[in-house]
Amino acid sequence: MAAPKPITRLISHVILDLDGTLLNTDCIVSQVLKPFIVKNGKKWDSKKAHKFVGKTPYEAAAVVLEDYGLPYSTEEFLSLINPMFSEQWGNIKALPGANRLIKHLKSSRVPAALASNSSRSNIESKISCQQGWKEYFSAIVGADEVESGKPSPDIFLEAAKRMNADPSNCLVIEDSVPGVTAGKAAGMHVIAVPSVPKRTDEFSSADEIINSLLDLRPEKWGLPPFNDWIEGTLPIDPWFIGGPVIKGFGRGSKVLGIPTANLAAENFSDILSDHTSGVYFGWAGLSKRGIYKMVMSIGWNPYFDNTEKTIEPWLLHGFDEDFYGEELRLVIVGYIRPEVTENQTTFLLAKKRFCF
Ligand code: ADP
Ligand code: MG
Repeated sequence: MAAPKPITRLISHVILDLDGTLLNTDCIVSQVLKPFIVKNGKKWDSKKAHKFVGKTPYEAAAVVLEDYGLPYSTEEFLSLINPMFSEQWGNIKALPGANRLIKHLKSSRVPAALASNSSRSNIESKISCQQGWKEYFSAIVGADEVESGKPSPDIFLEAAKRMNADPSNCLVIEDSVPGVTAGKAAGMHVIAVPSVPKRTDEFSSADEIINSLLDLRPEKWGLPPFNDWIEGTLPIDPWFIGGPVIKGFGRGSKVLGIPTANLAAENFSDILSDHTSGVYFGWAGLSKRGIYKMVMSIGWNPYFDNTEKTIEPWLLHGFDEDFYGEELRLVIVGYIRPEVTENQTTFLLAKKRFCF
């Protein structure tokens, strides 16, 4: 009988993008740009924000000036806006799974680099606000340290060179299209974690597309697996949300057997921007009724392809009546998976697991 094939360690080094991949910079971008644009007599359009993703500061500035017809040169605009951004670096939060990934790579002794279209000094300022990040990276490369930024491969090739790594053994993790293009042009393996929802079709050149860093499976790339999953669920730091139950889309979920007591997502945009879309679990309290286990989806429900984000908790209990308007408090303690079109499956599995 033939001996089993040894597992070849495909990936030896990881190269991470910073903004939108590890850090939730998008929030800061709109916080800074919106008042500036409004002060200049223009109307802020949040739908345009995706256009800046993955660009160098200079390119992003040129897009803003053109889109909003602002009367500045790119240099003038950058000199006005840069100090406003710098003030915000300390307020940028790590994206879900970023700290977990960095700790995992560190404890598994996988060398990693940061490769960003930001300038080196801005990268340093941003990561100095995140505990333990600066010490971890074997190399840090900014766009001002190479000839051209992403989508050119220069930044990634320079990162590999500084780590003495062969590009074909490097795994790039990126949220932007220019970043994915750059990683592929560098001859590397690329995982896309798109930071703008519903645009996955733009990432077809990536080797894998994942919903968030929580969905990363390093073992697919020959890297050590995460060992914090428990029977298909990932414990997370608990977070809380609550409010009156509102009418949802009334799409007959009761007919399907899965009524969801919706909360008004627009009231929670800040807390929701700290968490990825997906299916979660935890407990739900109804002030007049009690506390129940619950499974919840947050996002755009690809099954229905909603245009607005929804929060849809299903309480694992049979109720005799509706409870619209009642105060519902949720504590979310675990992540299960991204939203997918065959949305019912997890709920049914949850039903089985919780013996409801
Ligand atoms: P909607 O689109 O208005 O949310 P659903 O068909 O999802 O309509 O039904 C949700 C409503 O059903 C909730 O707001 C709540 O009043 C009621 N309900 C009954 N049982 C449950 C349950 N186990 N979990 C969540 N909501 C339930
Ligand atoms: Mg509902």
